Amino acid sequence: MPRRKRHRLVTKEPPVSVYKPAGIPAMELEEILISIDEFEALRLADFEGLSQRDASTAMQISQPTFNRVLSSARSKVASGIVQGYVLRIEGGRYRLADGTGILECLDCGASVDMSSGDKSSCQACGSTRLRWLRWEKGMRPGDKK
Ligand SMILES: [Zn+2]
Repeated sequence: MPRRKRHRLVTKEPPVSVYKPAGIPAMELEEILISIDEFEALRLADFEGLSQRDASTAMQISQPTFNRVLSSARSKVASGIVQGYVLRIEGGRYRLADGTGILECLDCGASVDMSSGDKSSCQACGSTRLRWLRWEKGMRPGDKK
């Protein structure tokens, strides 16, 4: 049996899922993927100003794990800004504190039930390539891109 990985607790959804440099077509840009749990680490530590101890408690992970997630997030954001990449915030192994939200599977298009136990993979096909849907206006769960 593989060790069951802990889902990182995320309290707030990102208000925007894609940041793109102005004036350049997206097709010509490199993209950096930041997971929702990395975004949350960045939000807690660098925006809310929590200590790493408090922030790791908030996400219900160990301090070394939090430190790793935060370092990865910082380096991705810096790398994206410095090099003029698209920053895409989606996916990752996490669960929302209030159990709400809409995720779509990129492989089969199914919507992922946020009230179920496992929010890091598609219940229909098992894919872990999930995309945050809520903030894309006009889209409904199950819509194809
Ligand atoms: Zn699927």
